[in-house]
Amino acid sequence: MQKSPSSGVSLGGGAALISFTEACSIVEAQANAILAARVSETANCDLIDALGRRLAVALIADRDQPPFPRVTRDGYAVRTKDLHPDTPLLVVGQIRAGEAWPAGNPSVGAGEAVEIMTGAPLPPGADAVLMVEHAQETQSEPSVDASSEKRPQRWVRPLSGRTLAPGENIVPSGSEARRGDILLEPGSRLGPEQIALAASCGFLSVPVFPGPNVAILATGDELVDASAQVGSIAVVPGDSSTAIQPHQIYDSNSHALVALVQQAGGNPMRQRPARDERDDLAASIRSGFEAAPLLLLTGGVSMGKFDLVEEVLAGMGAEFFFTGVKMQPGKPVVFGRVPSDSDRPERYFFGLPGNPVSTMVTFRVFVAPLLAALAGERNWQPKIAMAKLGVDFRTKQGLTRFLPAHLATTSSVPTVTPVHTQGSGDLAANGRANCYLIVPEDCDLLSANQMVRVLLR
Ligand code: AMP
Ligand code: MG
Repeated sequence: MQKSPSSGVSLGGGAALISFTEACSIVEAQANAILAARVSETANCDLIDALGRRLAVALIADRDQPPFPRVTRDGYAVRTKDLHPDTPLLVVGQIRAGEAWPAGNPSVGAGEAVEIMTGAPLPPGADAVLMVEHAQETQSEPSVDASSEKRPQRWVRPLSGRTLAPGENIVPSGSEARRGDILLEPGSRLGPEQIALAASCGFLSVPVFPGPNVAILATGDELVDASAQVGSIAVVPGDSSTAIQPHQIYDSNSHALVALVQQAGGNPMRQRPARDERDDLAASIRSGFEAAPLLLLTGGVSMGKFDLVEEVLAGMGAEFFFTGVKMQPGKPVVFGRVPSDSDRPERYFFGLPGNPVSTMVTFRVFVAPLLAALAGERNWQPKIAMAKLGVDFRTKQGLTRFLPAHLATTSSVPTVTPVHTQGSGDLAANGRANCYLIVPEDCDLLSANQMVRVLLR
């Protein structure tokens, strides 16, 4: 085992706990090192599969955006200097969205207007669009001569009190982006908005970094793997050799982690849970390191006699960046890596505490940024918001706390209220919550109506 030069922490439950902020900085430093050393392996990804992937190259504007002066209202393209409620303008044509002003057509002239639809290009000569809602149209009498093909003439004027400034209801061409501009930096996460941007440049696919594999290993003698039991419970009801026993629990953490990894754009590789036994644990950890550059363990990192995860990792030459953080839940969380060897590059690992809420919180604050870096994402930010606290809340100082809470956003100021919980094993309470209320380390009282920080899910 080596100690981290940066953190100076040592192995074991008795080791110095570091502050939450310090732990975040350590993870950030490793994430930055990963990004700096990145070899840019890329793959082309269809836009329909691109959600959550990270762009491997800059997205460049293929042409000016908008490529023409884009009309933003249905109405009449006019010359603002001609517009007066007493002087109707002659409607000389119509342009629909997707239609071009015919080449060779004269510009919109003095006293003229062109009926125009949202999304159409502004015709030359016009400098604004009078909204249809602000306009009154009149028609001349139809021709009395039935054989005449002459159509009635249409006139438009602004409703009284309606004025129009040059440029109104038009987005000038090139005002959103110029051809060749960088629209998205390499490493940007592709959400729906970024995918729309790529699609607006005509891309069907974009180069992305492959999502990193993430091995997931739950540990604990009490765990039953529901998937390994499929059939046995249903087929042999009451068979005590196969059914879950009252003192056992289903492994839920590995499923939480599969979902969290998927949400973070990684490829989860769930292993069967390992026993609290050195050889089984070592074999499972080894196969996790074979499978992925990042291994997430849950359980077995506390002070119990059978909490063997750190010991087994240390036996493999692991370097620990931290082995405990002043936070709750999640205090025993472990972060480190095993060095590269001739067969493979270095492997990162997190030993996440087994209590389910601890597992999920520590993933969201520590694993997510590292995974984002492995995925090639730059400038990852935690999803933190401010909200008004709904009730007084008392606690003890000394730990940064993350309390399952409910954020209500229907009132004018979002309001957060901690949910009643039995602690970090209470999956039911955590399932009812929709965020985590963050209580700073130095705080023992939060008062109702004060603004507080919230970790969004
Ligand atoms: P540990 O961190 O191993 O001391 O476990 C702390 C608590 O979390 C114990 O009550 C465990 O039974 C529970 N736990 C550990 N692993 C899991 C898991 N994979 N799924 C659900 N609960 C777990
Ligand atoms: Mg355990």
